[in-house]
Amino acid sequence: MKTALITGASRGIGRAIAIRLSQDGYSVAINYKKSKDAAQDVKKQIEELGGKAEIFCADVSDNKQVEKMMKDVIACFGGIDVLVNNAGIALPQGLFTDFDDLTAKNVFDTNVFGTMNCARAVIPYFVSKKSGKIINISSIWGICGGSCEVIYSASKGAIVAFTKALSKELAPSGICVNCIAPGLIETDMNKNLSDDDKKEFAEGISLGRVGKAEEVAETIAFLASDASSYINGQTISVDGGMI
Ligand code: NAD
Repeated sequence: MKTALITGASRGIGRAIAIRLSQDGYSVAINYKKSKDAAQDVKKQIEELGGKAEIFCADVSDNKQVEKMMKDVIACFGGIDVLVNNAGIALPQGLFTDFDDLTAKNVFDTNVFGTMNCARAVIPYFVSKKSGKIINISSIWGICGGSCEVIYSASKGAIVAFTKALSKELAPSGICVNCIAPGLIETDMNKNLSDDDKKEFAEGISLGRVGKAEEVAETIAFLASDASSYINGQTISVDGGMI
């Protein structure tokens, strides 16, 4: 049985990925930072569907916590095959000059260094078995850049470049690194957007609607599977077709 660790999996896109990968037969390691009850709820749902899951607490921006989590996951399931770096934070919309450097640093600590910490912790294990998949979550703003989302866009752009560079470094070891760039997806991250905001945004999407977490999870399931064996270093947009 293969094992997948999904960071920030207590809700939203991470939760959908955890449930989707369990349906493909993965044992699922559900990482959470604070929301133990919500993480337990994801585990319960996976078990009710006949799957296997455990919860692991760690702040991905803290390297020591991440190293411990990775050891615990490997000890619990006897290995790890897929890492999905999903945990991320956004800021309220605002001009770049409205945010101080500490605020920007917090975003980079989670979105960029959190992704790097988890990758760094799993790579020695993947190299030793000459296989493994790392899937990072960027954002459409990491590709296009979003006005009033400058810091978030910069952090997500870093993930695209990190993916591309790391994929080249790890390919000789049989490890694939890819990335997903979701568009606007209906989750708590966007709960501050009004219906009018979403409607306006949807006018710039060829499919004319915002996306669902489950639709992102489908692409993750493909990248985690053997069906994507010749895809490496790519960022795949799951955004309904931005106009
Ligand atoms: P969300 O806010 O619902 O979920 C994010 C999860 O990450 C939460 O469970 C949160 O607790 C966790 N998290 C945050 N900081 C953490 C940390 N330091 N350590 C461990 N966990 C941490 O958001 P979501 O919409 O589900 O977003 C998931 C990912 O998708 C994020 O990386 C986000 O940037 C990205 N994304 C989301 C959208 C969207 O429209 N929802 C679009 C593009 C990209």
